[in-house]
Amino acid sequence: MRRKLIVANWKMHGNLASNKQLLAAYIEKLSQLKNIDVVVCVPYPYLAQAQSMLQNTGIAWGAQNLSKDAVGAFTGEVSASMLKDFGATHVIIGHSERATAYCESDENIATKFIQAQQHGLTPILCVGETLIEREAGVMQMVVGKQLDTIINRYGAAVFANAVVAYEPIWAIGTGLAASSEQAQSMHKFIRGKVAAQDITTSTSLKILYGGSVKPKNAVQLFAMQDIDGGLIGKCSLNAQEFELICRAAA
Ligand code: PEP
Repeated sequence: MRRKLIVANWKMHGNLASNKQLLAAYIEKLSQLKNIDVVVCVPYPYLAQAQSMLQNTGIAWGAQNLSKDAVGAFTGEVSASMLKDFGATHVIIGHSERATAYCESDENIATKFIQAQQHGLTPILCVGETLIEREAGVMQMVVGKQLDTIINRYGAAVFANAVVAYEPIWAIGTGLAASSEQAQSMHKFIRGKVAAQDITTSTSLKILYGGSVKPKNAVQLFAMQDIDGGLIGKCSLNAQEFELICRAAA
């Protein structure tokens, strides 16, 4: 039985004062939920704040990106070891908002994935198709290729220390979530791809669904066999809604 995982993606929202309130509400509402794991991925400058408020609460924290390089003359980049310095346990890799706005290639994403693991961070690898790709019926081919970039380079066993988030691009921030059947079908495909190379890893792999998860669709989504939790954007900025989503998983 895979333990459910809920990851908050705050994106570029918040400030010291509003984060303080939101994290305090998370602690009050979520620390007693014992049978799920919760991770909050904050903007880089607030890692220290997350660390100071969340340590010893049972809620973990992480980042939304990292450099593909370990150290060096890379102005503006943040390395895996810097994230570790602030107690981060997880890092989101390849979010579609970054892949499109900052032209991240599958190859760069694969390098970031392994960079995170080599420094003891759990990568949360985002995969997903555009609406045009779904309408053309090529969504499995697209997601399969995103996974293959990692599997072909490093083997499927690297997914033993990773999380995959299926995030159909057309569902992110649009209010239009995938149906639980659409999501389950893709999650089954993802698990099957890993299973084709490594059954043990595929059985324990957590595959999250992300894209307009709300309190009212969370129960149905999380009830599906291969959906092991969620990556939550907008609703993670509202403590009440986030709590309801976490309770749906718990
Ligand atoms: C996301 O950005 O990862 C996400 C899932 O956003 P939202 O929940 O707002 O669709």
